[in-house]
Amino acid sequence: MQKVATHNAPAQAKPHLFGLSLTALQAQLKTLGLPAFRAKQVFDWVYKKGVWDWAQMTNLSAADRATLAQHLDVSPLGIKVEQIAQDGTTKWLFTLADGHEVETVFIPEATRGTLCISSQVGCTLNCRFCHTGTQALARNLTAAEILAQVMMARRQLNDWPAQDEGRKLTNIVLMGMGEPLFNYDNVRDAIQLAMDPAGLGYGTRKITLSTSGVVPEIARVGADLGIQLAISLHAPDDETRTKIMPINNKWPVRELMAALRAYPLKEHRRITFEYVMLKDVNDTDAHADALIKLVQGLPCKFNLIPFNPWPGAPFACSDEARIEAFAARLSAAGLDAPVRKTRGEDILAACGQLRSESSGRNTVSLEFPSVVRVYGTADQRARLGEKVSVTFVED
Ligand code: SAH
Ligand code: SF4
Repeated sequence: MQKVATHNAPAQAKPHLFGLSLTALQAQLKTLGLPAFRAKQVFDWVYKKGVWDWAQMTNLSAADRATLAQHLDVSPLGIKVEQIAQDGTTKWLFTLADGHEVETVFIPEATRGTLCISSQVGCTLNCRFCHTGTQALARNLTAAEILAQVMMARRQLNDWPAQDEGRKLTNIVLMGMGEPLFNYDNVRDAIQLAMDPAGLGYGTRKITLSTSGVVPEIARVGADLGIQLAISLHAPDDETRTKIMPINNKWPVRELMAALRAYPLKEHRRITFEYVMLKDVNDTDAHADALIKLVQGLPCKFNLIPFNPWPGAPFACSDEARIEAFAARLSAAGLDAPVRKTRGEDILAACGQLRSESSGRNTVSLEFPSVVRVYGTADQRARLGEKVSVTFVED
């Protein structure tokens, strides 16, 4: 099994609370000589009320709070940039304890609010159309850093209603930077905590993991988590897919489809196929027909994604008429194939772009955002201030 074990985060002196299950926290408290019931109290503060400052956990004794503070890390992620688009889409560039950066995006819609989170800093897979793939992988995120993106987004959105039903952030998708199945153990631990009724309590239907097709790990997602699965398919045949996704050399379409047909889908659930529309590469009627044949009998739907260009990208997006014709062909065969709307168009929506802009030139490229908060240096302010009106917060 392929792993990126050499890319783990440096060990921290104290474990971070966001990386501990309730049972793990109980065990930790035991070693500190604290009663096990404190773990549930801490979980209530953190995951139900959004309070993760020991000083505010008023039903804990001062002595216990001091012990906890000494042995458990509760530090938030740094916020380097927060961009809010006209349509409410919000993009954050979060800073990790060792200075690396990850991006997280919130997409509000009428009936739900979806948070797109990252699983790695960068990605090793080099899909040709993906900007994240052009960045060298820095490292895997820890389970705590993965969950922290959800906690930070809810904090920024002020999203701690008394009842789960009222929350703004209703869905979580692992579609940000990185390949989640190359960091499976940490992703699993974070998702289990997000699903735990004593934790954030998101149901399996509300969480989607997107993979480029790490075949040997797919069965584990089904067995351990039972969440929704999205597959970055992008081509129906090996010849086309290998050209745009080198991972196809290792796990070709046939093996990927066999793993998907074996995935334990719950009743009324479907696998989602993501399909980025690349002009003259994967967008012909013949490709559509091959797709229809490929997925026959598999409960699934397609998500057609207009290619989001980035500077230097070797592709163009298919024409609108071609995308419509492609979608219509899939629909005529009985497949759901909506075209994904581009959200937050005013804030560089493509995967991996915010971080690249930041690390490349230590600034962000801003195309008419409505609200931008940049948390950084005066130097950044000088460069950004001329272009847009920013609320600037000194470090
Ligand atoms: N690594 C995982 C999850 C992150 S990518 C995966 O590949 O599935 C999330 C989705 O965005 C993937 O389907 C990916 O192929 C797609 N994507 C990447 N770059 C894109 C671009 N420039 N335009 C449109 N979609 C893109
Ligand atoms: Fe990595 Fe996914 Fe981008 Fe491919 S599409 S390079 S797997 S983040």
